[in-house]
Amino acid sequence: MIDEVRGPVLERFLRYVRVDTQSIEASTGYPSTQKQLVLLEALVEELRGIGLADAAIDEWGYVTATVPATPGAESAPVVGFLAHVDTSPEMPGAGVKPIVHRDYRGQDLVLPDDPTAVLRLADSPALAEQIGQEIVTASGTTLLGADNKAGVAEIVTAADYLMRHPEIVHGPIRLGFTPDEEVGRGTAHFDVAKFGARFAYTVDGETLGEIQQESFSADTLIAVFQGFNTHPGYGKGRLVNAIKVASDFVSRLPRSGLSPETTADRDGYVHPYVFEGGVDKTTVRVLVRDFVTAGLAEKETFLSNLARATAADWPGAAVEIRVEESYRNMREVLDRFPNVVAHAREAIRRAGLEVREHPIRGGTDGSKLSFMGLPTPNLFAGEHNFHSRLEWVSVRDMAKAVEVIVHLCAIWAEPETSG
Ligand SMILES: [Zn+2]
Repeated sequence: MIDEVRGPVLERFLRYVRVDTQSIEASTGYPSTQKQLVLLEALVEELRGIGLADAAIDEWGYVTATVPATPGAESAPVVGFLAHVDTSPEMPGAGVKPIVHRDYRGQDLVLPDDPTAVLRLADSPALAEQIGQEIVTASGTTLLGADNKAGVAEIVTAADYLMRHPEIVHGPIRLGFTPDEEVGRGTAHFDVAKFGARFAYTVDGETLGEIQQESFSADTLIAVFQGFNTHPGYGKGRLVNAIKVASDFVSRLPRSGLSPETTADRDGYVHPYVFEGGVDKTTVRVLVRDFVTAGLAEKETFLSNLARATAADWPGAAVEIRVEESYRNMREVLDRFPNVVAHAREAIRRAGLEVREHPIRGGTDGSKLSFMGLPTPNLFAGEHNFHSRLEWVSVRDMAKAVEVIVHLCAIWAEPETSG
């Protein structure tokens, strides 16, 4: 299969990354940028072109389509595959010029539009598995957009492959392409019931053979420190400077642990990331992360107590605290549907790959979807160095991801494994 899909998946990928689909945080529209619709609308045409008659885009920009079940497999569980079309607002995404480096030999890849952008084996150890392969990078001044256009290309190519190979028995397969994942709103208007899948997979992961079923559980704690402002020339005994109170709070956070700078693997953290305001009122926003939801509550209690103790040390100051939920560890849901991950492992093995599993120190759209009623772990797409000028993807890995998707579709329709 790999030889048949290698060319098409690369061709699609190179076409998609040339379309600027950057999302932006500050927008109130949906999608956050109109330019994402250019690719989303082109996908509708392309999906119809490969024979998916119901391909459509909805009022929010979500593109969906169905690969109909093969005769006799109509009652197999409906399985979905999802990828996001937008790219990160942190890095330029316009004018992407993809470069295919053939027969990679471990050498430094100097990107021509900015010779300081050098992809080195020493900095990117995953390249060690790519000797002899084709590597795609951008040209040095933009990201590549493999996150997540590799996933888009892989899903479309898998659908095309299934349509060309009716001998592969599979149930109804739903495809979904979404905007605004990078600004945390990928599922904001996603209609799980209308999508109609019982289980789904985002194809937005990193290393060949990987399946991710664990994400962080995530909240944001917002501490608003209230001071009292008056003319500083006459402030004696009256002025309470909220900037100082909030700074005092931040300086009391532990330095030797509990931060992104000092934790890895399965440890959570607290991370102040916005500090804004003035003398009268200063707001500190803190990311709270843990793999166990109970661990979040513990960290939030710690932060609340610390903020209150700080405010109490500044007569006249007060603090108000609120916590906003961001997403939850999808494993809490996936543990109830063990076949979702088990079938993915089997598909990865059938593609001749070793199964790799790591928790995600972040969230995916699947973290949200799982709690919206659609259990959705994350499959590898071959993306590396996300949100960077040094982003890269291997053509072999993309072709292997297509293979995994095709196997997965077949496995869900096998009588002994479905359900
Ligand atoms: Zn992504």
